[in-house]
Amino acid sequence: MSTSQTPPRSAVFLDRDGTVIEQVHYLSDPTKVRLLPDAASALRRLQASGFALVVITNQSAIGRGWITVEQYGLVNDEMNRRLAAEGVELDGIYYCPEAPTGDDRTEVTHPDRKPGPGLLIRAGRELGLDLSTSWMIGDMISDALAGLNAGCRGSFLVETGKKLTDEEAQAASGFVVVPNLSVAADTILGSLTPIDDPSTPRGSSS
Ligand SMILES: [Mg+2]
Repeated sequence: MSTSQTPPRSAVFLDRDGTVIEQVHYLSDPTKVRLLPDAASALRRLQASGFALVVITNQSAIGRGWITVEQYGLVNDEMNRRLAAEGVELDGIYYCPEAPTGDDRTEVTHPDRKPGPGLLIRAGRELGLDLSTSWMIGDMISDALAGLNAGCRGSFLVETGKKLTDEEAQAASGFVVVPNLSVAADTILGSLTPIDDPSTPRGSSS
């Protein structure tokens, strides 16, 4: 279907590991793919409301030589199969194989590696998306910042994946922290939470 005759769509950009599927350290085995609880139903609701669903994933294990592009693809295939069984079809999956050059997840080390906005911008161009009305959902500060850097309307941090460090939690104070993808979807669909609404960052001072 041509996108040239249709107005730009809004998208929900999604991190993969720890957001849509269970976080597994350097996941390369498709038999270990598990959809997070209620993730599929959340995506189905977003899809039914017209949002494009686009996964944006950092896969530094490829750049490090620890997993192959083929293994990465098999994991995606299994995720897609499980989503399809629940009536969800992703509009695209974009990955960055680059390994980071440092530990700071708030620093852009490659334009395509989150928090770099490169893949969101490319997806926007290729899929005919309006980034300014689109959202980003992920479990790491780099996910939230990628949405911000791409000019998205807002970013959500879900608590189903990696925990933020105290430093990252401070950087996350401008983003909406929600328990899971389902709550993020409900918030987007209900527009219940303005993007500048104060939220409680995880890992606040203890
Ligand atoms: Mg993640």
